[in-house]
Amino acid sequence: MLKDAAGIERMASIVEEFKCEPLVVVVSAIGKTTNALEKLLAMAFEKDDNLATEYFKLKSLHVNLVQSLPISTSGKDELITEVEELFRDLWDALNKGYSDRYFAYDQVVSFGERISSRIVSSRLSEKKLIAKEVDASDIIATNDNYTDASVDWKKTKTNVDKEILPLLHSNKIVITQGFLGGDSKGNVTTLGREGSDFTAAIIGSILKADEIVIWKDVPGLMNADPKVFEEAVKLDNISYHEAIELAYYGASVIHPKTIQPLQKNKLALQIRSFYKPAAAPSYISDDATLDDKIPKIILKENQTLLSISSRNMDFIMENSLHHIFKLFTKHKIHINLMQNSAISFSVCFNQNKKKQEFLIKDLSLFYYVKYNTGLTLLTLRHYDDKMLKKYISRKKIFLEQKSRTTMQIIY
Ligand code: ASP
Ligand code: MG
Repeated sequence: MLKDAAGIERMASIVEEFKCEPLVVVVSAIGKTTNALEKLLAMAFEKDDNLATEYFKLKSLHVNLVQSLPISTSGKDELITEVEELFRDLWDALNKGYSDRYFAYDQVVSFGERISSRIVSSRLSEKKLIAKEVDASDIIATNDNYTDASVDWKKTKTNVDKEILPLLHSNKIVITQGFLGGDSKGNVTTLGREGSDFTAAIIGSILKADEIVIWKDVPGLMNADPKVFEEAVKLDNISYHEAIELAYYGASVIHPKTIQPLQKNKLALQIRSFYKPAAAPSYISDDATLDDKIPKIILKENQTLLSISSRNMDFIMENSLHHIFKLFTKHKIHINLMQNSAISFSVCFNQNKKKQEFLIKDLSLFYYVKYNTGLTLLTLRHYDDKMLKKYISRKKIFLEQKSRTTMQIIY
C-alpha cells in the first residue's frame, strides 16, 4: 500500500534490495484512491454538481505526488503527461453514461491501479531498475461478473507463462496492477475490494514463487486493528484456516480469496511492514500451533441489521430462505452474519444505501422488513472470560452468536 512519496521511495528501495531475484511487483492504488473513485462514480450516477471538483482533487493529489518524487525533469514531465492522460480517460469513463452500474464500477475504479502502476514503473526506471509494466487485464483472465469477477485459472496460467515468464527470464522486474483482471471481451474487471493481495497470490502460485510478500503500513498481521485497539499485537504465524476465518469475519488485512491458492500450493504468505522492512514478517502457513494462543478482535462498523418476517406469522422455512438468499445474491449483498428464529430471519451486512434500498423494496413485496443501520459487528476469536467482560459488557446488544471459538455481537 503506497500512500505518499515517502512510501514510493520505500517501495523503490525494497525492490532494489530484491533486484537480483526474479521479481513481480503487484501495485495497488495510492492511499484512499479506490474509495475516492467509488465516490466519483456515485456522484456521476447522481449527476452531482461537485463531480468535477472532487475529480480535480484526486487528480492534483496524484500530480502533486509525482511532483514530489525524485525523478529527472524530463522523466517527470513525461510521467505527468501520462498521468494526465489517464485522468482524461477517467473523466471520459465517468461521463460515459453507462447504464450497468457494475460494469461502470470496473471501468472507473480500475484507474486507481492503472495510475499507481504507471507512477511506480516510472520511479523504478529512474532508479535504473529494468522494469516492464504488464497490463493485469491481459494476465488475470476473469468472467464478466463485474466488481467481483472470478478468475479463469487455466487461461491466467497460459497468460502468465506467455507474458510474464519470458520477462523474468530476461532479468526484467515485472510490474502489474493488483485487483484488476480482464474478461473475454477485453473489458477490464475488478476482483473485489482489497483484491491486490489476491492478485499477488494468483501470480505467485502460478509461478510457484519462493516468497510472496505483502507490504503493508502496519507492523504485520495484527490480532486487532491497531488504529482502534492500542493493545493490538503482531501475530508471528497463523494457519491458512485461521486466516480464512479472520477474513470471513472481516479482518481487513487479507482478502478472503487470497488464501485459497496459497493453501492449495502450500506457499507461505509473508506480511511485512514498509516502515520496518527489517522486522520479522508475519506468516500465514500450514502451521496451526499458534492459532489459539492469541485472541483476535475484529470490528466491522456501518452494519445494517435486517429482520425479515413472514406476513402471516408463518415460520421462515427452507423455501422462503431460498427466496431471501436469491434476493441477496441479486443485489450482490454479502451477508456477514445471520440468525434464524421461528418467525423471523435476521441478516447483518455492510451498509450500502443504494443496494439496501433496492433489496428492501424487493423483500417488502413478500415479507415484513425491519432494519437498523449504523451498527457494529464485533467478533472475538479464541476469546476468554476477561475479553468478554472487557468488550461485551455494557453494550446494547441487538444480536449475539457464540460458539466454542468465536463470539459475535451486533451493537
Ligand atoms: N485498490 C483496491 C482497494 O482498495 C485493491 C487493493 O488495494 O487491494 O480495494
Ligand atoms: Mg488498497
